[in-house]
Amino acid sequence: MELNICHLYPDILNLYGDRGNIIAMTRRLRDRGIGVSVEECSIGQPLSAAKYDIFFIGGGQDFEQEILLRDLAAGKSREIISAVEEEKTFLAICGGYQMLGGYYKTWDGNQLDFIGALDLYTVGAKDRMIGNYMFETAPEDGGTMVVGFENHSGKTYLGDSVQPLGTVIEGFGNNGEDKTEGARYKNVFATYSHGSLLPKNPVLCDHILHTALSHKYGDVPPLSPLNDTLETRAHDYMQKRLSKA
Ligand code: GLN
Repeated sequence: MELNICHLYPDILNLYGDRGNIIAMTRRLRDRGIGVSVEECSIGQPLSAAKYDIFFIGGGQDFEQEILLRDLAAGKSREIISAVEEEKTFLAICGGYQMLGGYYKTWDGNQLDFIGALDLYTVGAKDRMIGNYMFETAPEDGGTMVVGFENHSGKTYLGDSVQPLGTVIEGFGNNGEDKTEGARYKNVFATYSHGSLLPKNPVLCDHILHTALSHKYGDVPPLSPLNDTLETRAHDYMQKRLSKA
């Protein structure tokens, strides 16, 4: 078995080491003898979405999101929408998550019309939502506790066809109002959780990898366990710290 990963805009959208998610996915596949390739696709490079099984989009600030609008409109938006509908696996973080939605209206009133692959929109607030946070994924996604870090001005609201990735236990999540965090649609996983999301949440990482493998190869047995002593320690330390908050 083999998975081909496309890292979209790695030079523009890479806040807080979001690239670590690619490293975690790659390592966890190779450690099990599963092949993996990673290709980068940025401004001006055509995207042939059919070649890939997993797409990763990191976070970026309003400025970076705005400069990508023209490149998205020149073809990538269309490719991304069909890949989503074909049930390819996506992991999108913060600014990348917002870009899969319909639009982002910044807190000072600038409307950025995005890809529109997911039925959701984002509205900027003057007060940013910043800090370590924690959410529990929906039962269909394993009901696992995810620890992370968020830093966003945008408040995201989900439409009816999109489910939240989880329920906020500590912190803000999508908007600080309705306790939802992130989005799930077909095989898209979107979240506000930056940086070492997958390295310190190995259960979520394996769930995403298993989703992509099952889509490509049909019924795939559960992934073999790895030695997650350090990952679990990092995860449990943060969970304990946040439980006391
Ligand atoms: N620009 C967006 C916001 O502030 C995304 C920020 C990010 O990716 N950290 O809401």
